[in-house]
Amino acid sequence: MKTEIEQLAKQILNSRRIVVLTGAGISTESGISDFRSPGGVWDRYDPNDLNFQSFLSSERSRKIYWKFHRDFYLPMKQSEPNDAHYGLAELESMGKCHHIITQNVDNLHQRAGSSPEKIIELHGTAFKVGCLECGVQFDRDEIEKRLDNGEEVPRCPYCEGLLKPATISFGQAMPEAETRKSFDMARVCDLFIVLGSSLVVYPAASLPLEAVNNGARLAIINLTSTPYDDNADILIRKKCGEVMRSVLELLKSKN
Ligand code: ZN
Repeated sequence: MKTEIEQLAKQILNSRRIVVLTGAGISTESGISDFRSPGGVWDRYDPNDLNFQSFLSSERSRKIYWKFHRDFYLPMKQSEPNDAHYGLAELESMGKCHHIITQNVDNLHQRAGSSPEKIIELHGTAFKVGCLECGVQFDRDEIEKRLDNGEEVPRCPYCEGLLKPATISFGQAMPEAETRKSFDMARVCDLFIVLGSSLVVYPAASLPLEAVNNGARLAIINLTSTPYDDNADILIRKKCGEVMRSVLELLKSKN
């Protein structure tokens, strides 16, 4: 009887096109708190102040939003990728990770060495700031400097439009191109791996089933149960970093 880790290694070896969906669970292992879980940044703010409509309509909400987002961004910037992020970069170098679809906005896949063109940031990125009027983007740190100097609600230097971190807020439309590409990737893969997502936030949560319905195998690695556990061929309730470390050891011993 093979262990789940051995089964996963075997599936990876036997698959030609592998897509990985990563969620908050992979980054909590880097010390980034899942802001939906108790004790997270969320507890200190009223969600009504943070949705997209409030951002558009109220200067007071925009001030709160930027303050919230700084509380969230500054520790995130200090965090480091972990074995799961590094493991995915290594899988890519072995030709075994064709796309990473991530619900995270923390840039850790890029920092671990995964190719930017293989990463689909479904919920945007906290490391850029965009103008809601003209669409121009800035590095987050450039805008952070302005906040350090006392600005509370930064505006676009070109058009005076509202600037907002390039993450998808509650109530804000999902990025069309990224969403379409994620579903396309889910349909054409032969192995879909969920790494650290509880699969409760849509549309990301629909991707595993999209893959399964188009013939892919499904592996779910998450500490807690998900609504799609019954659809999984391989189900592992362990930490992402630990699993990736063991799987890579096995894969290397077979090469
Ligand atoms: Zn602008």
